[in-house]
Amino acid sequence: MAELAHCANCDKVFVKTIRNICHTCYLEEEKMFDKVYAFLRIKENRSATLQEVHEATGVPEKTIIRFVKEGRLRTAKFTNLTYPCDSCGAPITSGKLCKNCVSKIEADLEVAEREAERKAKRQKTYFLLEDDE
Ligand SMILES: [Zn+2]
Ligand SMILES: [Zn+2]
Repeated sequence: MAELAHCANCDKVFVKTIRNICHTCYLEEEKMFDKVYAFLRIKENRSATLQEVHEATGVPEKTIIRFVKEGRLRTAKFTNLTYPCDSCGAPITSGKLCKNCVSKIEADLEVAEREAERKAKRQKTYFLLEDDE
């Protein structure tokens, strides 16, 4: 039996495919992608910001961001096509977090790891002492 799902875009119920949006929205989105792509193909537009692309094409910013996140728009070429970091809002061109937030999380992880190691050691010492008695 076909599995039904709610379209992530318009909330309409549709038969689930590999996409999480319905066919109507998919066609609409492809049209939007063509518009964005056609705009960015023009050399002078390559340095456009998200806001500028949105204004020129009428495509919602969050849709353009999704194209970037899905890797359909190569931000290596479009250097100003940035969107905010999920954590601090700094402009980024790939992933969910900026470099600062990534290294902060990595540092936090390291601290947590060291803390866990210290606790493990302390426990070992405790057990050793206990064995001595
Ligand atoms: Zn839909
Ligand atoms: Zn950040």
